[in-house]
Amino acid sequence: MTTRRDLNELSALGSRAVELARAELEAFFYGLDLSKPELARDALLEFMPMLAQEYGDVAATAAAEWYEAQRFAQIGGSYQAVLADTVSVGQTQGSVRYAAGHLFGDDPSQTLALLSGAMQRFVLYGARDTIARNVGRDSARPRFARVPTGAKTCAWCTMLASRGFVYLTRETAGIARDHYHDDCDCQVIADFSKDAAHIEGYDPDGMYDMYLAARQAAGSGDQKMIAAEMRRMFPESFTDGVAGN
Ligand SMILES: [Zn+2]
Repeated sequence: MTTRRDLNELSALGSRAVELARAELEAFFYGLDLSKPELARDALLEFMPMLAQEYGDVAATAAAEWYEAQRFAQIGGSYQAVLADTVSVGQTQGSVRYAAGHLFGDDPSQTLALLSGAMQRFVLYGARDTIARNVGRDSARPRFARVPTGAKTCAWCTMLASRGFVYLTRETAGIARDHYHDDCDCQVIADFSKDAAHIEGYDPDGMYDMYLAARQAAGSGDQKMIAAEMRRMFPESFTDGVAGN
C-alpha cells in the first residue's frame, strides 16, 4: 500500500527538480540586458523550453524510479517504467510570450515571477504524467489517485482529488492529466495493493461529500460550475474559498 510517506518522498523529488530549474531560470533572467526587452524575450524563448525539458526529464526519471520501487515493494516482480514526454516547445514558448509583456513595462521582474510559476507546472508534468502513463500500461493494473500534498488546496483540485483511488480509464484520465495550475501541489500516485488504500490526511470521502452537495446546488454536471459552487458553500475548506454570500 502506498503511504503518506511514499507520497511525500515523490513530491520531494519533484520539488527538488523544480527548485533547481527555478534557480537556473533566475540566474539566466538576471543575466539578461533588461534595457533591451525584445532581445531579452527572444533569449527566454530559446532558454525556457530547454530548461523545462531538462528538469522535466529529471522529474520524470525520479517518478519512474519511484514507481518501480513502489511496485516492487508492493507486489514484487520486475517492471521497467516508461518516461513521460516533456512539455512541448510550443507550450513553454507560449508562457514566455504571455509573460514577456512585463519586460516592456515598469516591473520586468513580473516576467520572472510568471515564468517561475509556469516552470513548476512544466517540471512536475514530467512526474505526474510518468505515473499516469505507467498506471495506464502496467499489466498489474494499479489504481491511482490525485492527492493534494498541502493542508488545504483549491476547490478545483479538491474536486479531482475527491475521486480517491481509481483505475485509469478514458473517463478518469483527466483526473491525472488535466488542469494543474501554477504552484499546484497535487501529486499523482499509484497503489498496487488490492486492499482499501489509505493515505494519512487524505479524505476523498469527505471531499466527495462536498462535491456532491455542490453538484446538487449547481444543478449542473459542469465541473467549472461545481467548483465555483464548492468555493461558495465551503469557503473555509479551500485556498480559494469565497466568503460572504
Ligand atoms: Zn492542486
